[in-house]
Amino acid sequence: MRTLILGGDGFCGWPTALHLSAHGHDVTIVDSLVRRRIDDELGVQSLTPIRPLSERLLAWREATEREIDFVQCDLARDYDRLVELLAEKNPETIVHFAEQRSAPYSMKSPRHKRYTVDNNANVTHNLLAAMVQVGSQAQLVHLGSMGVYGYETVPLDLPEGYLTVTYPDNDGRPQTREILYPTQPGSVYHLTKSMDQLMFQYYAHNDGIRITDLHQGIVWGTQTDETDRDVRLINRFDYDGDYGTVLNRFLVEAAIGYPLTVHGSGRQTRAFINIRDTVRCIRMAAESGDEVSGRPRVMNQMTETHRVIDLAHLVANTIGAEVNMVPNPRQEAEENRLSVRNDRLLNLGLEPTLLATGLMRESAEIAHEYVGRVDTNRIPCVSYWNRQRETAAEGA
Ligand code: NAD
Repeated sequence: MRTLILGGDGFCGWPTALHLSAHGHDVTIVDSLVRRRIDDELGVQSLTPIRPLSERLLAWREATEREIDFVQCDLARDYDRLVELLAEKNPETIVHFAEQRSAPYSMKSPRHKRYTVDNNANVTHNLLAAMVQVGSQAQLVHLGSMGVYGYETVPLDLPEGYLTVTYPDNDGRPQTREILYPTQPGSVYHLTKSMDQLMFQYYAHNDGIRITDLHQGIVWGTQTDETDRDVRLINRFDYDGDYGTVLNRFLVEAAIGYPLTVHGSGRQTRAFINIRDTVRCIRMAAESGDEVSGRPRVMNQMTETHRVIDLAHLVANTIGAEVNMVPNPRQEAEENRLSVRNDRLLNLGLEPTLLATGLMRESAEIAHEYVGRVDTNRIPCVSYWNRQRETAAEGA
């Protein structure tokens, strides 16, 4: 299968590129490398020493004799290059990871809000318009987020994309219709993911573009079977207040003896998935095709839900750490219930890697190994969702 991986130098994209290559896909990575420049902007580096992409690709060739091609392109700005690329490579699958993915980063300042919208909306729309322009028959597999739904407690298991609603027509007769499950974005980043959904709905309906939108939970873990093969293939591991996702941040904090930073009450429930399952799910999505029904296939890509405070205690008990409650920089419910349907990926053969399997120790060992690279000044989240909170926290 000829496969393009947009954003293939990132945390999810790199291990996915290797996993698909290992399973026989002919992979081309397309990336602007902007994520590495954001590391420089924030003055923080991945906990793990990630190598330049050229060195990563050489290491993969030496380990497997398989080639992965790389094209550097800013997909939000260089539309003509994107069109050329689609025409030249004629991919059967396009996996789209190429977005600014941090909610705190998207809330840092008006510039960061505008960058996140410009970048994410333009990459998605450029891609859809280019696919129509060249008559691409590829299946587009996009990484969306469970976070688009917000975290209100709702009295149902979150369905996979669609909700059947019943409403009275003008004569009072009940009508039913299926709609996209309503989004309730909690940050500008999540707002862009909500916008993506509408673009997918439009292009699937209007142009018959085949789309699978994977609503992913928070990813934890670092390594996969493929990134483990050579130290030059190591995956990135973000622990800072902007890009460090909650469990990975806790693991680094525990490794350096820094009290675990639990935002607010810690009673927020979130959905999680291990990086090993991320790459398998994407392969299942790519290889299973979609329903070709004029509407996107949506699958919830998560395996378990946990309250943040329970995760903190799990890390504290397994690895040893103090738990510290800090003011919540986000504007979100202090407590919510969350239950999610993930039947589609389970039916495709997903065997969840759960926290209870002990894989958390693997990430903790990595955190210990690279502990000297941690900059503790970068751990607190310094992006606030609104100024009043920022002022309150500064005064605290
Ligand atoms: P990441 O920031 O590590 O990787 C994104 C990659 O896309 C980077 O290599 C970056 O350079 C590239 N990119 C961004 N804008 C681009 C552009 N205009 N042109 C070309 N390349 C561009 O992020 P990630 O953690 O790998 O996330 C990948 C996707 O998965 C994102 O869309 C994210 O929203 C989604 N997701 C991630 C998580 C998570 O926990 N990491 C959870 C849910 C969903």
